[in-house]
Order: sequence, then C-alpha cells, then structure tokens
Amino acid sequence: MTRHVAIVGSGPAGFYCAEAICKKDPEVRIDIIDRLPTPYGLVRSGVAPDHQGTKNVWRVFDRTAQRDHVRYFGNVEVDRDLSVAELLERYDAVVLAVGVTTDRRLGIEGEDLPGVYGSRALSGWYNGHPDFAALEPELRGPGIAVIGNGNVAVDVVRVLSREREEMIKTDIPEYAMRTIERSEYTDVYMLGRRGPVHASFTTAELRELGDMTRTVALVDPAQLPETFAVDDPKQQKKMEKIIDTLREYSANAPGAKPRRLHLRFFASPVRILGEDHVEGIEIAVTAIEGGRAVATGETYVLEVGTVVSAIGYVAHSLEGVPIAASGTCYANVDGKIADRLWAVGWAKRGPSGVIATNRQDSADVAHRLLAELDGGGRGGGDALGALLEQRGARILTYHDWLKIDERERAAATEPTPRVKLTSMEALLGACE
Ligand code: NAP
Repeated sequence: MTRHVAIVGSGPAGFYCAEAICKKDPEVRIDIIDRLPTPYGLVRSGVAPDHQGTKNVWRVFDRTAQRDHVRYFGNVEVDRDLSVAELLERYDAVVLAVGVTTDRRLGIEGEDLPGVYGSRALSGWYNGHPDFAALEPELRGPGIAVIGNGNVAVDVVRVLSREREEMIKTDIPEYAMRTIERSEYTDVYMLGRRGPVHASFTTAELRELGDMTRTVALVDPAQLPETFAVDDPKQQKKMEKIIDTLREYSANAPGAKPRRLHLRFFASPVRILGEDHVEGIEIAVTAIEGGRAVATGETYVLEVGTVVSAIGYVAHSLEGVPIAASGTCYANVDGKIADRLWAVGWAKRGPSGVIATNRQDSADVAHRLLAELDGGGRGGGDALGALLEQRGARILTYHDWLKIDERERAAATEPTPRVKLTSMEALLGACE
C-alpha cells in the first residue's frame, strides 16, 4: 500500500529529509507543508541578503520539490488550518521541520522599550519576511548595541553597516536599504558576555567585518589573550584564527572610516535605559569563572538609541507537541517525538549548526522513520487536500511559488537578483 509522509516546514532540514526519503524509498509520497506561499524557510528569510552564495542552495531543494512523489502545500499553517493530530490521522509519519521561531528574551529591565528588536524580527525585516516587513525599525543612534557573539549577531552588524553599493547584488528590500541608509548612527557595539575565545561566530564571518566600506572594526587589544588553550585541538585552531583576526582589528585606527564597529567582550547587558524609547544600555563588566560570565561589580553605560538582541531562539509551540526542558526544541530522542511523529533541524536539536549540518542529520532521521514506517493505507495528501478544502483554506502549490519566483526576478534589474514580494497580499496576488 502507498505510504505517505508529511513534512511540516520547507526549510533546509525539511527538504534534506524529503530528499533522503526519496532516495531510500522512491515509492513513499511526501507532502511538504509550509505556512508561507514561499518555500525554503531561513534560506529565503534568515540567511543574510548579502550571502547570496549561501542562498543558492535553493537549487538543490528545487530538484527535490520537482520530484514526482513530492508535493508542496503552501499557505497552510498547522494550528491555524489543522492540527498535528489531524495530520497524524492522514499520514503514516509526520516530520516537524518548523525551526525555532521566537527570539529568546534577555530578561532585563527595559527590554520592552521601543527601539529594542529581536534578531528574528530584524533579520526577517531586512529579508522581506511578510511577518516582519512592516516592522519599521527606526535604527536611532548615536550607537546601536547588538547583543550576542554568534553568527546571527555578525549578520545583523554587517547588514546594518553596509552601504547601498555593497548591497547592490543582494535582494535586500528597498524599504530596509533606505532605512539603513538614512539612519545616522555612528557606532555599532557587538557585545559578548564572555571572552573572545568563547565567541561562537566563525572565522569567515568575522573576517567579513573587516572589509566594510564605511565602517571600521575595532577591538581593545587588552581584551585579547596572549596565549590560551582549549581541550579540543580543532577548536584551538579555530579560535587561534579568530584571535588573529581580532588582533588585526585591534590595530585599526578609529578614524579610518566614518562609522565604527566595536567588538566588545566581557560585556553583559544589565538594563536598557530610557523613558519612552531606548536611550542607553548599562553593561556589567564580567570575568570568566568555570566557563561562565560572572559580573565583577564594575559597570558602564553605552549611549545607544537601538538595541538588537541576537542571543538565540526558543521553540515554536504546537498543540500537543512537548517542548524540551531547554525550551529550544521539541522533546525527542534522536528525532523521535512520539509514535509516527518526528523532528528534524532546529526543531530537533535547537538553534545550532549551519545549513549543511542538516543534510546528514535529516537523513539519519529519515532512515529511522522509514525503518519504523508501517504498512500505510492512510489518505495522505488527497485526504489533507479534502480537509483543507472543507475548511476553506487556500492551498498554494509549488507551481504557484514558481509564479512568485518569476515575478520577483522579472522585477529586478541586473545585478540585483530579485525584488522580493514582502506582504502576504502581494504574494497571494502573484499566484492568481
Ligand atoms: P549562537 O551561536 O548560539 O550565539 C548566541 C550568542 O548569544 C552567544 O554568544 C551567547 O553567549 C549569547 N547569549 C545568549 N544568551 C545571552 C544573554 N542572556 N546575554 C548575553 N548574551 C547571550 O546562536 P546564533 O548566533 O543565533 O546562531 C544560531 C546558529 O545559526 C548557529 O549555529 C550559527 O552558526 C548559525 N548561523 C550561521 C550563519 C553562517 O554560517 N553565516 C549565519 C547565521 C547563523 P554565550 O556563548 O555566553 O552563551
């Protein structure tokens, strides 16, 4: 009997899972469900617009989507149009590939003041995600504080620091470019609560901060260790490259370019200051004890009009699906949440790893899932379609996405790759 698998979420983890299932058992029917009309998840709306090379991985997913036994159900949202339980009634297995959708909170005073943004919202905004296109951040200066020392923080800092000429080959929406261009901040602070050897950004991303046209990267040499040792030799090598790059930045002259990017370490946010809007941020100077950042009692204030927190994400709550104690993914064992219910990607392991991490990780889950798949006989996509039709949902197909894709490309002039449609109205309109 034909067996049916539903994959909820069309980002890299979902598509790699679909591809692994197709390769191992080409007879299985796969339906990929996404709440947006557009597929590819963070490849479209998380990867920074100036990383078009990374975004090109969509070509791999496109091949999977065009396979005979793979169908795309766009504009279908679990918990709005149907539940996970209803999917399990219609599919032999359900895979949650929904990522993690909510910014982790800082948990400090002033966090809810206007002028404070989470990186999910801000990066969604500069990537034209329909949920965040209307964010209208003011990006007030004179300084902007970006909290966190991961690659997301680096992305935010870089996109906010780039000039129009540097973004010409990207698909950043015009509204975002205009806001960035008109904002008058002079200083961006990227704040790590621990030291440079604890940073989680990677060397290639850090090096990009050294080649911005109007912004000079600066580091206080006193914050860099003369020597250090970590247990893992691979990690030691990686961190040595990072320290070497930071040392280069520490030799830069603050006046070399009109804007400054300060990479500050041992800096933990204590309080965001301001009455009706962000006016500053109070920082505790930390020392490292047992690998953790501990406040030394010394504090200072940075004069900033905008704060962006890039400190990770928490899991997306779905009815009936347990969230792990960490809060960052669904409770699962090697991808298995419950009988016939699986998780891949960040929904499985929390927000860690790069796109390529998902290839093997999703394949491993796909193989486990196939080994447990029973004889089938559930209705699959036809049953799903019937239910959604009954509920008046407007299902979009992969062909509809190709129409959006064509419209976006046609609207762009070389070397801009596409002009994104950034509202649900415009996206749905392009499919008519
Ligand atoms: P991340 O690498 O886990 O970084 C989170 C940062 O937030 C850490 O520096 C962490 O510091 C800090 N943090 C957490 N809670 C904090 C708090 N309360 N106060 C101050 N700082 C706090 O996560 P991410 O940057 O969100 O990235 C997620 C994943 O996507 C990563 O695997 C990343 O490599 C990947 N990614 C890759 C790219 C790329 O390849 N170009 C781009 C974007 C994202 P501690 O270390 O002290 O906890």
